[in-house]
Parts: sequence; C-alpha cells; structure tokens
Amino acid sequence: MRLHEFQAKQIFSQYGIKIARGKLARNIEDVKKIAEELGGKVVLKSQVLVGGRGKAGGIKLANSVEEAVEIAKNMFGMTIKGHRVDKIYVEEQLNIIKEMYVGLTLDRANKGFALIVSSVGGMDIEEIAIKHPEKIASVTINPIFGLWDYQIREVLYLSKIPREYHKELTKIIKSLYKILVDYEAELTEINPLAIDENGEIIAVDARLNIDENALYRHPELKDLKDYTEVDEIERLAEEKGLNYVKLDGDIGVIANGAGMSMATMDLIYLEGGKPANFLDVGGGASSEAVKNAINIIAMDKNVKVIFMNIFGGITRCDEVAKGLIEAFDESKISIPLVLRLAGTNEDEGKELIEEFVKRSDAKIIVVETMEEGAKKAVELSK
Ligand code: GDP
Ligand code: MN
Repeated sequence: MRLHEFQAKQIFSQYGIKIARGKLARNIEDVKKIAEELGGKVVLKSQVLVGGRGKAGGIKLANSVEEAVEIAKNMFGMTIKGHRVDKIYVEEQLNIIKEMYVGLTLDRANKGFALIVSSVGGMDIEEIAIKHPEKIASVTINPIFGLWDYQIREVLYLSKIPREYHKELTKIIKSLYKILVDYEAELTEINPLAIDENGEIIAVDARLNIDENALYRHPELKDLKDYTEVDEIERLAEEKGLNYVKLDGDIGVIANGAGMSMATMDLIYLEGGKPANFLDVGGGASSEAVKNAINIIAMDKNVKVIFMNIFGGITRCDEVAKGLIEAFDESKISIPLVLRLAGTNEDEGKELIEEFVKRSDAKIIVVETMEEGAKKAVELSK
C-alpha cells in the first residue's frame, strides 16, 4: 500500500525529519486559505499515487495567492498517468540549493534492505543510476543486525556528499530506517532531499510503501488507504476477500490457487489473447466466493468472455458449479463463460451446469482441458 506524499510526510516529521509547512486542500477555497496562511509563495503538489508528478505537470510553483488559485483551478480534475487529482498539498516554497536522494527498500535478492544514497536527486533513482553512476552508493542491511553507523558513513562517503552534511544525513537515514521497521514498509524514500538557502536539509518529497500483508498489524494505517485511487472493482474484490488484480485485457480469468491463475493467464497469452485480470478464488472456494468472483469480473466493462479454470482438490466442483449458477441466475450475466472443471466431484458439477444451461440462456461452454479453454476464450474474445 502506497501512502500519499502528505501522509508519508506526516509520519516522517514525527520521526524528526524536517518538512516544509503545508496543508492538504480538497477544493479551491482550501487552496486560497492555505496559500494565504503560508504567505502566498507556495508549491502546489497534486496528491496522486504515482511518481514523476513534476514532469507530468502535477507540481507547480505559485508566487501569490491569486496565482495559486489559478494553478489549482487547472490542477483539480487533471489526470496524471490515469489518476485524477482531487487533492492538492499546498506547501511553502523553498529555495533549493541542492537536491539529493535517500532511500531504503526491500532487497529480496540480498535477503535484506538496501540503503541507497546519492548526491544528486530529483529524478528517478533509475535515471540517477544511469546518468550519475559515480554519485550513487548502496549497501545491504542485514535485518537481524540492523543498520550500522559504518554503513551510513560508507554510503555517504562513496556518494560524494559533502562532509558538512554527514551528521544531519546520518540522523535522517536512521529515522528512515526506523520508519521502515516500525511500519513494516517495503520502501521509504526521500527524493529529493533538499538543502535550502539556509543550509537546512528538508524532505521535499516523501514516499512510504507499506507491506499489505503486514497491514493487519497496523490498523491505524488502514484508514489511510485512498480508495479513490484504487480501482472500484479492486476495492469491492478486497471487501469480498478475493485476490484480484485488474489488468488491461478483455478475457476475465477465474482460477483456484495463485499458481493456477498464473498458468491460466500464460495460456491466454500463448493463444494470442490478453487477460482482463488476475483472480484467485483460493483453495476450497465456497459457492459464495465463486459467485462473488463472477460478479466482480462482470463489472469490468472490458471483459468480453470469462475463462474459469478450476481444478478441484480441496475445492469441490459441485460447489463451484452452484456458485456459478447463482451468479448467472441472480445477476443475469450475458458474457459468455468458458469453463474447465476437473477434479473432486467433477461429474456432479458438470451435471448441474448441463442442467442449468438447458433451462436458461446462459452462454456457458464446458471444455475438458485448460489448453482447450484458453483457445476457446481467445476465439470468443476476438
Ligand atoms: P515527483 O515529481 O512526483 O517526484 O514530485 P516531487 O515532490 O519530487 O517534486 C518534483 C520537483 O519539484 C522536485 O524535484 C523539486 O525540484 C521541485 N519542487 C518541489 N517542491 C519545491 C519547492 O518548494 N521549491 C522549489 N524550488 N522546487 C520544488
Ligand atoms: Mn520526487
């Protein structure tokens, strides 16, 4: 779960990292009031959960209250990489002398965290790595031992950050590491970390991504999740306890088990089609879960056909069939569905489906193998 800049800054600030004064605006009147409070010279920062807002026109400097209001009029409602702007963070303007980069991220390959520091910032870390490889340094932190002072000294030295800033940067890096651990984050990043005209080191941007699987241990963070940012369908799927990820194809996918779902998507690609989603109903799925899954996929306007691929182990095929029939019955689903149903209680399940197809006008096509199913689904999607 990615937090907004204004949310992350709140947390960073509680850990002693300096941020500029600012407030969140939800409408033009808010912008006017906040800009007045801050003395007119402000930065308007669109709060959308994507990077590179600056380049996309989502970060603008204003030198008066009037200018701030004019900018806000354009900014509210604009879309940045598919995300609509409905919140603007208004901050006092800083006179930035130098921009640096500090980030901590999960480093699976090295079984630890990576601390990355660069004496240049403001652009993506990937871009820094290409353009200024000599000004970037990283070190792996073993989570059992934690972050050692010598590791901080090493990256600060190697990234060629002037010595006068080392003391302050050490504090900031330690705070960031503490945030990473306390919040069970996958990423904490300040880009740019700026030095202003008074020589103060200030977090101009803030990024905090929290491990979704740890969210249950941080109930206070759940409220920070911004559902206007998440696809409405994803939100509903989460509410129903389904593992759903929206994709941009037109073949709805339902399978049981993550591996099975991935294999189903691979087959669709192999046949020249594109999956509209990933959806794993889980092992031992109830008819209720299957019904919810079909209803959720049917909400996606791009879906032309659904491919349901079930291998019953703990999952019982008759239970799956019941859920499928209920969904088609109650929601009057008109999208064709290709069904591969194999394993436990397969015959009972198929019988139920056969009987249902006879007495309704549901377009359910039963196939024997998943290869056959993928082929049929792709054919129907064209
Ligand atoms: P991002 O593009 O989504 O990463 O958004 P950032 O918050 O990093 O802002 C992009 C850029 O805007 C920064 O790299 C800064 O150069 C610039 N910026 C942001 N706030 C200020 C400010 O207060 N003063 C000045 N001069 N520039 C700012
Ligand atoms: Mn940034």
